[in-house]
Amino acid sequence: MRLQLLPSTIETNGSARQGQHFTCFVINDNIAFDAGSLATSVTDVQRDNIRDIVLSHAHLDHVAGLPLFIDDLFATLTAPVRVHASAEVAAILERDIFNWSIYPRFSELNNENGPVIEYCIFEDGVRFRAAGVEITPVRVNHKVPTSGFIIEDGSTRIAMSGDTAEMDDFWRAIGEAGEIDALLIECAFPNELGGLANASYHLTPERLHSELEKYRPDRPVYIINMKPAYRDRIIEQIESNRTANVEILEVGRVYEF
Ligand SMILES: [Zn+2]
Repeated sequence: MRLQLLPSTIETNGSARQGQHFTCFVINDNIAFDAGSLATSVTDVQRDNIRDIVLSHAHLDHVAGLPLFIDDLFATLTAPVRVHASAEVAAILERDIFNWSIYPRFSELNNENGPVIEYCIFEDGVRFRAAGVEITPVRVNHKVPTSGFIIEDGSTRIAMSGDTAEMDDFWRAIGEAGEIDALLIECAFPNELGGLANASYHLTPERLHSELEKYRPDRPVYIINMKPAYRDRIIEQIESNRTANVEILEVGRVYEF
């Protein structure tokens, strides 16, 4: 399984910066998990192949690229882009993004081949298949309805937490799923902003360390979704905790699991 966190922030010389303003993971070049930088950072091959987009939640940094991605493809689609989301997230997108005020309601528009967007509603705990992988959404603990995911392709199984504070269902679900080849988990704020992390349902390095006590990884754990303004400080604090097997997921790098 190939996984890439798409870049979202560009240096003045045009190269990708490690800071992550948006969240969009592409797996096997043909399915996206979240769509923050989807329209702006995909390769041509990825743009041609991605027709399944799985959303963890509707916060802007996770969906900003979705309207623009569909817009780019509008005239050429021969089948709708499938947006896999919980019923709550799909309703938020229709009400707050695709509402004609923020962006056109693509669900009411057709190109010459038919509809351009199709919502595929998932339920947490119920596995579904898309673009050659099996996906089990699991409810996590964020300010708004949010899912993490267990993703399997027959030989590899990875898990990603999305945005979250402390979780129980997620750890139980990945414990039941069997061997996990890689775990991706957020750490949005440094320890000194614990109050803000609490109010916005995110983790700090201290709280991440306690969460990983529930999991006790013997495979790599990759840290994602660090607020760019605090990235260096968060990394310093994560490293000082010396939690086994923890690494920072590099923006833009293609990982093979
Ligand atoms: Zn969020």
